[in-house]
Amino acid sequence: MQAQTVDDLHNYYNRFADKYLIKHSENKCYYSIDGRGITTYASLSAKRGNRPECRIYWDEIEIFRNLLRHRNTEEQLKIFQRKGGRRFTKNERIQYGIHRAKLKGGQKYYGRKYKPLSGYKIALDPGHFAGDFETAKIEGKFIELAYVHKDTVRFYEANLTLTTARLLKDKLTRAGANVLITRPKAGVLVSGKTFKQWKQSDFPALFRKDIQEKRFTQVRAQKLKKFDARLHTLYLASPELALRADIINAYDPDLTIAIHYNADPDIKAIDQPSSHNYNMTFVAGAFMRHEMDEPEERLHFLRILLMQNFDKSVLASKYIIRQFEQKLKVNTIPKENHLGYLKNASIYVQHGVYARNLGLCRRLNSPLCFGETLVQNHRWESERLKVNRLDRPAKRVQEVAEAYYQGILQYFRELKRQKK
Ligand SMILES: [Zn+2]
Repeated sequence: MQAQTVDDLHNYYNRFADKYLIKHSENKCYYSIDGRGITTYASLSAKRGNRPECRIYWDEIEIFRNLLRHRNTEEQLKIFQRKGGRRFTKNERIQYGIHRAKLKGGQKYYGRKYKPLSGYKIALDPGHFAGDFETAKIEGKFIELAYVHKDTVRFYEANLTLTTARLLKDKLTRAGANVLITRPKAGVLVSGKTFKQWKQSDFPALFRKDIQEKRFTQVRAQKLKKFDARLHTLYLASPELALRADIINAYDPDLTIAIHYNADPDIKAIDQPSSHNYNMTFVAGAFMRHEMDEPEERLHFLRILLMQNFDKSVLASKYIIRQFEQKLKVNTIPKENHLGYLKNASIYVQHGVYARNLGLCRRLNSPLCFGETLVQNHRWESERLKVNRLDRPAKRVQEVAEAYYQGILQYFRELKRQKK
């Protein structure tokens, strides 16, 4: 961005928010961008009554960015909610201006110099966590296709994503990068616990709190407890994503890749295959109605607005989507398509790249490509994917890892070229 004057700045940020961050215009009651800076409000009446929740003045942008990168979410939220319309004090400016790298004594260099990815940190997040089919059913990420006169085809996404991440990590490491996998082991959450262990140790306290706050009756609560899939959706999925994002942000990578395999909803029955096959990628953006109602959500909105990772995320996604086409010989989802979530919950950015306010997207400080390759429940694709084992990767999964790898190489090559 070449914006120099305050006029340029607020025009630039307004245009960017309108185009890619706001899916539903109701959200505009929660913020304003003007000559003073960027301001969030807790409600429309707070905006009308000029009661700011947090105003970042234009000359405070760098301090706030620094704060987002070097403090954890809890600290960020406290500072965000305390700020109101006042400026940072001199003390706060000094305190929040300190970089973590400086606190640790400074360190930025990894690996040998002559390799193509030397000096870069890359975070990989293999989607989901199941290590067996039963757990995959609890998290609702499995494929089970029934055919007449044939064995049922059964496999699950968490196995494919982890295999891909491991293969990709090897390639990236050999090319000189420093690589983090958020979930390095099969069958456990990033906390290291299995679903059963989580249900025994973490879940009861969360549940008690909801019963105390009378979110549901005792009878309903007892019923609910029997359905692991519901517990996963209500109590586990979101904190798990928040923790993954914290881990990635603490690592402070140059690029994050979230690895997922897609499934097509256009089917006659849940156990019948789809006739569609396609690839797509997501970057942060597209806040929908009610997705800015909470202070934490508005903090994330500010994060995506201020961190300015959008162009880099789109660039990485562009190269990766091209490699998906070439290496996997599967088309990118066309702009006109049958998928409700692309139309209703995303904003089209460019060929195969969509802004979407996914739990991981809004929390990350780094450029991100959130990849959704292939349709697992496509008839022929399911045949290629079902044979995958962690210790014996399917050829198809190797091709996916190679596509990511080549896309990432091109991305960093292009960044270096732009710097020259
Ligand atoms: Zn997934």
